[in-house]
Amino acid sequence: MPDLRELYQELIVDHSKRPRNFGKLDGANQQAVGYNPLCGDKITVYLKMKDDVVEDVHFEGSGCAISTASASMMTEKFKGKTRQEAEELFEVFHHLVTGGAEKDSDTSGKLGKLAVFAGVSEFPVRVKCATLAWHTVRSAMRGEQALVSTE
Ligand code: ZN
Repeated sequence: MPDLRELYQELIVDHSKRPRNFGKLDGANQQAVGYNPLCGDKITVYLKMKDDVVEDVHFEGSGCAISTASASMMTEKFKGKTRQEAEELFEVFHHLVTGGAEKDSDTSGKLGKLAVFAGVSEFPVRVKCATLAWHTVRSAMRGEQALVSTE
C-alpha cells in the first residue's frame, strides 16, 4: 500500500502545478464564476453540455494548490457524465471532504483518485477550497449565475 499522505501530496501537487483542462473552452454553452473569499480562490468553469451529458468541461482562474487540484481533477471526472451522475458525484465528494464518508465503502469506488481529498476534512478552512470548483460547476450545470450563453 502506498503511503496515503504521500499519494495525497503527489496528486495534489501534480494537479496544482499542471492543471488539466485549464483555459477557456471553445463551444462552451454554460459557465459560472466561483469565489472563495476565505482563501482568495477564484475560478470560472466552462461547460459544454450536449443534451444531458457533460461533453467537455474546462476551468480557469487562480487559487491555492487545493482549489486548483480539486478543479483539475473535477474536470477529468465530470467529462462524459450525465447531469444526474454529476449531481451524485457532487454529493459524494461533498460528503467526503466534510468528513461524513468514512463509513461509506462506496465512496472510493465512485470517486477514484478524488478520494485523496478525504484528508481535507481534517482542515475545515480548506473544505471551501476543495469544494469551490464543485459548487461552481454545479451552478453552471443548473444555469445559475451563468454569465454568457452562446446558444
Ligand atoms: Zn484555497
